Amino acid sequence: MNRLLFVLLFSAFLSPALSQDGARRNFHIPDIAGFYTLKGDFHTHTVFSDGLVWPTLRILEAWQEGLDVIAVTDHIEYRPFRDDVNQDLNRSYEIALPKADQLGILLVKGAEITRSMPPGHSNALFLNDISKLDTETWSDAFTEAGKQGAFIFWNHPGWKAQQPDTTIWFPEHDKLLVDGRLHGIEVVNYKEYYPKAFAWALEKDLTILANSDIHGSIHSEYHSGPSDMRPFTLVFARERNLKGVKDALMDKRTAAYYNGNVYGRAEWLKKLFDACTGQEVNAAASGNGKRSIFLTNYSGIGFYLVPGEEARRAGLIYDIELPPYSTIGLTLKVPGQNESPASAILLEYSVTNMFTSPESCLKTSLRF
Ligand SMILES: [Zn+2]
Ligand SMILES: [Zn+2]
Repeated sequence: MNRLLFVLLFSAFLSPALSQDGARRNFHIPDIAGFYTLKGDFHTHTVFSDGLVWPTLRILEAWQEGLDVIAVTDHIEYRPFRDDVNQDLNRSYEIALPKADQLGILLVKGAEITRSMPPGHSNALFLNDISKLDTETWSDAFTEAGKQGAFIFWNHPGWKAQQPDTTIWFPEHDKLLVDGRLHGIEVVNYKEYYPKAFAWALEKDLTILANSDIHGSIHSEYHSGPSDMRPFTLVFARERNLKGVKDALMDKRTAAYYNGNVYGRAEWLKKLFDACTGQEVNAAASGNGKRSIFLTNYSGIGFYLVPGEEARRAGLIYDIELPPYSTIGLTLKVPGQNESPASAILLEYSVTNMFTSPESCLKTSLRF
């Protein structure tokens, strides 16, 4: 073969186009004052436990979906492919790390402590050496995770396989809580939302998480529609690095996102909604007994607002849909007030897809 032709053909196989990482989705959620808003999935599996994908694919999927941080959390005790892959429990993390670094994804080293109920399955994050958690008893595994300074959370507390009829908080969970070995709880896992777990998170002061627990490819489970994506945890971090993520998780600075809904503590949801939206006076449409505003959503989350009593009495009777990255106009009729207003009128709305408890929604005010 002509030498030049050979070089050309050979280099074609090595061309950068062949290693393209696809497109990253722009699911924008603004930072809130003093904090980076990071999107994270802290529960994923690979072939190193019972997942169906190679660790680097987990990173690529996370990057394509617009996430900032993920944890690969293979089961310690359940590894059906153990005869086909390296049995070093740290291996899936080691394989994923270079890809994560290349794409700017923060990768947390974690593992799933996989025990029967109680205490059920738990993820330990920010571990140094996962193999030390491969212990006879579950309590030894938690003790070791504690020694390594891990952030530990209860996975899928309402999972039917372990809690078929009810969701029970066991004395073992109390003991873990008292011993400082239970820091968080999944309010959403895979495609399930657990209201009871959300209530426990608030009652027992635990970090709120939503994670995919993905085993197959992310595209086989989600993405049936444009707004459909895996559940993720919003992390409000002071620094955009692993320390910032760990501090935020330990300090309970999170919210859970799934299926268009956000679950979290009122203080953080309020800051989040205020960062995602803005309003300004529409002067051209105001006057002659009208006050008009533009309400803008800068985020990838769609919001639904329902007017409170006062807004209804003032004639704003309709629910508001504020789609992602959109602006809507709203007009309040103020009969008899033709001049520019001396003071603004604040009207309360409920944001019905932002849950501050299983039974209540975030309240906000529109300013006319
Ligand atoms: Zn599990
Ligand atoms: Zn899992």
